[in-house]
Amino acid sequence: MAKKIIVIGGGAAGMLASLFAARAGARVTLLERNEKLGKKLYITGKGRCNLTNACEKEEFQRQVLRNPRFLYASLAVLDNFGMMDLMENLGVPLKVERGQRVFPVSDHASDVGRALEKALRTAGVDIRLNTRAASLLEKDGRCRGVRLFNGAELPADGVIVCTGGVSYPATGSTGDGHRMARDAGLAVTPLLPGLTSLHTGEAWPGELAGLSLKNVALRAYAGKKRIYAQQGEMLFTHTGISGPLVLTLSSLLPQELSQVRLSIDLKPALDDGALDARLLREVGQNPRRSVSSIMDTLCPHSLGQTILALGEIPPGLPACEITHAQRARIRGLLKDLPLTVRSLGSFEEAIITRGGVSVKEINPSTLESRKLPGAYFAGEVLDVDAVTGGFNLQIAFSTGALAGKSAAQAEA
Ligand SMILES: Cc1cc2nc3c(=O)[nH]c(=O)nc-3n(C[C@H](O)[C@H](O)[C@H](O)COP(=O)(O)OP(=O)(O)OC[C@H]3O[C@@H](n4cnc5c(N)ncnc54)[C@H](O)[C@@H]3O)c2cc1C
Repeated sequence: MAKKIIVIGGGAAGMLASLFAARAGARVTLLERNEKLGKKLYITGKGRCNLTNACEKEEFQRQVLRNPRFLYASLAVLDNFGMMDLMENLGVPLKVERGQRVFPVSDHASDVGRALEKALRTAGVDIRLNTRAASLLEKDGRCRGVRLFNGAELPADGVIVCTGGVSYPATGSTGDGHRMARDAGLAVTPLLPGLTSLHTGEAWPGELAGLSLKNVALRAYAGKKRIYAQQGEMLFTHTGISGPLVLTLSSLLPQELSQVRLSIDLKPALDDGALDARLLREVGQNPRRSVSSIMDTLCPHSLGQTILALGEIPPGLPACEITHAQRARIRGLLKDLPLTVRSLGSFEEAIITRGGVSVKEINPSTLESRKLPGAYFAGEVLDVDAVTGGFNLQIAFSTGALAGKSAAQAEA
């Protein structure tokens, strides 16, 4: 007899779980609280859906920030190249861009969502929209189905929880799966916004809001320990900093932010000596110009003004009158512009949720709960996350695929 499987949540993980369970012979019902499937998928990659990354296996594992080894079996069932084949077979041609990021050729995330939905219907999945699961039904130590918010009970041989994290809650991910896990006695690690902007303790970034910087180095220290050092792009916002370097950093910060110190190196290609020589050259060639216009040769105007203000150097000072100590302060700020972190950007704007159902509670070979057999967890609801570049969607697709396959083929 075909197994009856219920999948809770019709996002990236839930769609793949449903597809793989149905293709493995199960009768699948997919419950989605929204009026359509994959609401978050439609806004990924700024509406273009960076669905995966075409890097090799070792590189993929390196980009996973938490619990990469937990993913071995999931990636064995469906890795990034398998996902690319699957999409192309569903009629969605793909392209690879900078950083091996994979997008649909059409640049429309909706093509990915629609193709997956069509595949689900072809595989015979019973899709129930506007249907919100409230809890897992438990009997004799096993998960036996789902109770809906309207009180209805749906029996099943296996239930796959794919409710996502708690970021961008307007898309439907509000932590229902974490509650279901806790109710079943499963540990959930602390939830934090990930891949998000940072609010700084200092107000001056707000004066530079909108200014983006290329080829700068961002370093972060927790106490004396350096926890991050990367070169790339970042930008200032009304309340702090954001941009690619900052998003990745946000996912690496400790929960306790008071010990964290940030440092921006605006001239990573120049050491202190080379930078001083550059400054002296500018001063020597333009002795009558103001220090403000000397700064304009080194960095964007508004940032130069900020550096002078932080260094307490009058912008109108003639270059020939800059003292040795003032020059040292300018160099110091160009190489080590300090910032502190007041808080992480909110869940409303965070691209992912850090933390989730503890992977210690889940068998990595099947994604079944060790404490509540018959219940499976896949996607962002789990305590697994990665940097930007298509890795988070691939984690959802891969864990969804494994959970679907194993639930359909389970012995009990
Ligand atoms: C703005 C933005 C852009 C992003 N861009 C990218 C990108 O380009 N590439 C990338 O790899 N990652 C990207 N991500 C991250 C990626 O979208 C997520 O990691 C991924 O969608 C997680 O998939 P999921 O299926 O686990 O969860 P979700 O996509 O959040 O899906 C969960 C689903 O479960 C439903 N649900 C929740 N509770 C219930 C319930 N009780 N009953 C029924 N249904 C329920 C929700 O409505 C939702 O549809 C982006 C995220 C955001 C917010």
